[in-house]
Amino acid sequence: MDLYCVMGNPVDHSRSPWIHARFAELTGQLLHYGKRLIPLDGFASAVSAFVAEGGRGCNVTVPFKFEAAALASQVSDRATLAQASNVLSFHSGAALADNTDGAGLVNDIQCNAGFDLSGRRLLLIGAGGAGAGVLGPLIEARPASITVTNRSLHKATQLLARHAALAMLNNTELMVKELHQLSSSFDVVINATASSLSGGAVPVAASTLSPGALAYDLMYGSAAQGFMTWAREHGATPRDGLGMLVEQAAQAFMIWRGVLPPTQQVLAELRHAMQATS
Ligand code: NDP
Repeated sequence: MDLYCVMGNPVDHSRSPWIHARFAELTGQLLHYGKRLIPLDGFASAVSAFVAEGGRGCNVTVPFKFEAAALASQVSDRATLAQASNVLSFHSGAALADNTDGAGLVNDIQCNAGFDLSGRRLLLIGAGGAGAGVLGPLIEARPASITVTNRSLHKATQLLARHAALAMLNNTELMVKELHQLSSSFDVVINATASSLSGGAVPVAASTLSPGALAYDLMYGSAAQGFMTWAREHGATPRDGLGMLVEQAAQAFMIWRGVLPPTQQVLAELRHAMQATS
């Protein structure tokens, strides 16, 4: 049976094994998808061990996305721009890196939530592996502007520099601001930080939310609840990252298996299953 997995630290919360098992069932593919907790200094050797076991591909989550792009022998254009990868495919011992996080986020916002990003003012909080992966596809949705902020500002500045040409092509204004210097409000606020994984507070003030703004946390499940409550209490429309998770997984499944699974059905089933167990 073809072997796949998700590698991360932490990884216990990941729903990817459930999603890929369901995709396989619905598309008639035979595969096994597991979950691996990787020591923080052990990503490259974990990938080598998985390839030696016959692994065909893996998803990569926090905090290994930059390392994943760096170790691959071939890197897609979007992963090159992000310098981060959430999908590795293994062929004849070589690792190919791609990044489906941004496509997943944009599909969820525009197709599943029905929210058109074009002409909007966006705030992207976070410049880690996930923030880096979503910026390019967000620009390609042609918003009026994207402001990027991050606890370590230099990472946001470097990210912006890599995306300047793409932003110009798409008529999107790109800016970097310190977390505490955000004085305007936005139509869409996207939390791409890992702060909720460690029980941290929402990293920006509520004044960043314009009335009726879409407030999107890439996190999902109980860890996203603080952000969702904060958004609702301040008049925004909250959305967690479950739809993005399913959409980015579907794009990875397509890369590995050449079949696009039915995402809306799987998202509805996953949400139902998570509500039943919470
Ligand atoms: P990384 O470890 O690569 O980056 C973490 C990011 O979070 C950095 O921007 C970091 O800032 C910031 N951060 C961490 N702790 C805090 C804090 N206490 N306050 C403010 N900022 C903080 O992780 P990823 O980018 O890979 O993942 C980020 C989140 O997105 C995770 O929660 C992950 O689960 C989620 N995710 C969800 C996906 C989905 O499909 N729904 C897909 C991808 C990610 P600094 O640079 O200063 O360290």
